[in-house]
Amino acid sequence: MSRKGSKAVGTTDVIVIGAGHSGLAMSRWLAAHSIEHVVLERGEIANSWRHERWDSLRLLTPNWQSRLPGHRYRGDDPDGFMTMPEVIQFVTNYASSIGAPVRAGITVTAVRQDEDGYRVVTDRGEWHCRAVVMASGAHGIPKVPALAAALPDSVRSLTPTEYKNPGQLDSGGVLIVGASATGLQLADELQASGRAVTLAVGEHIRMPRLYRGRDIQWWLYVGGILDQRFDAVEDLVRARRVPSPQLIGTPQRATLDLNSLRDRGVNLVGRLVGMHGGKAQFSGTLRNECAMADLKLGRMLDTFDALAERSAVGEMLGSPERYAATRIDEMPRLGFDLAKDRIGTVIWATGFRPDYSWLQADAFDAKGRLRHHGGIVAPGLYVLGLNFMRRRKSSFIHGAEDDVRELGEHLLAKLKKSPARAPLRAQEMRAGI
Ligand SMILES: Cc1cc2nc3c(=O)[nH]c(=O)nc-3n(C[C@H](O)[C@H](O)[C@H](O)COP(=O)(O)OP(=O)(O)OC[C@H]3O[C@@H](n4cnc5c(N)ncnc54)[C@H](O)[C@@H]3O)c2cc1C
Repeated sequence: MSRKGSKAVGTTDVIVIGAGHSGLAMSRWLAAHSIEHVVLERGEIANSWRHERWDSLRLLTPNWQSRLPGHRYRGDDPDGFMTMPEVIQFVTNYASSIGAPVRAGITVTAVRQDEDGYRVVTDRGEWHCRAVVMASGAHGIPKVPALAAALPDSVRSLTPTEYKNPGQLDSGGVLIVGASATGLQLADELQASGRAVTLAVGEHIRMPRLYRGRDIQWWLYVGGILDQRFDAVEDLVRARRVPSPQLIGTPQRATLDLNSLRDRGVNLVGRLVGMHGGKAQFSGTLRNECAMADLKLGRMLDTFDALAERSAVGEMLGSPERYAATRIDEMPRLGFDLAKDRIGTVIWATGFRPDYSWLQADAFDAKGRLRHHGGIVAPGLYVLGLNFMRRRKSSFIHGAEDDVRELGEHLLAKLKKSPARAPLRAQEMRAGI
């Protein structure tokens, strides 16, 4: 439906950008409320899981937790962890079951406000709509620190999005920068492949896979931690930057921590703080970082034990446990020459950030981060799937349901209230109303 005198090739009420689980969950909500919409996807359904993850990755959330509105895991291994092909199947089945109006192979290149809604520019024409939901993912761009530019040409630099399997790496050792879920999992895989691995460890969250016989995600769930809301935490900026916990999903339900890696020969060093003349320098804070993570783990287990005492299921659980402190060398190395240590590859497991380079709006803070109030960027402009967006669980598959419902209700109210809206004022954008 082209509008007379405009370049728009399509008109609809809502454009959802991205056919990952978040965009699809929103599509289901919109359809249930008879709101006309399309889902624009640059690749295929579940594109990120298909193309931006490494081969051996399994979810670190157990199968029983993999649920979307109207869709849940129904296999015979609720305590297992999905492989990538299984996640792709799970998300693709969801799209089919809800009949999502996905237009695949269309990349959104610009979104801007126009007189009564939004103009969505794509590589295959333009759309006009009354509201936009940006479900384009929280992990589009791997963060790489500026000091990566000083790496010698002889050393290969890889992000977790580029890394697929050990066979892809040249010979030589590997320096992995970052010790959260991604860094630990890659260190584990590469050490097992016979490479010498050094892991640069900064702030991290230590967690056992099982505690008192239950998966740690069960504890986080029953403890209400995953449901903590964005408007109820003291320091939201900090809460949104908390690293992902050191977890891995394996059929053995194994715990992966710095002790187990060290026992297998991984060399632990402090945070990477410098790179000059082919030499890497590491912070002397390794001991403190590990002590802090051990302390926080102990506190978390204390709350779980208190919860168990108050709960009727307490008696069905195993006994309380405490874990050995993280062991580190007496004198962890503070630097080494990459060539002398035969480091062939550096992997930057230093986190991810979303890509909104196509959003043409006064919606970013001084650090270039999207400003939003629990996913509301501006009237009629929403985002989904970001870290601690409305709840601690917002960036996880099981986090979509509550967020989609609440943002969907906001969106519906906006559509009802303002059938033809005046242009958005920058002030409103900042307030996130
Ligand atoms: C390594 C890793 C492991 C994770 N493990 C777990 C886990 O165990 N459990 C869990 O619940 N969560 C996990 N997550 C978090 C999260 O569930 C995933 O990142 C998930 O893919 C996010 O879903 P989404 O729908 O929000 O975004 P995505 O799945 O990233 O979907 C966004 C979609 O938008 C499309 N897109 C982007 N830009 C454009 C554009 N300009 N135009 C058109 N389309 C566009 C992309 O192609 C993509 O298909 C993990 C994340 C990572 C990175």
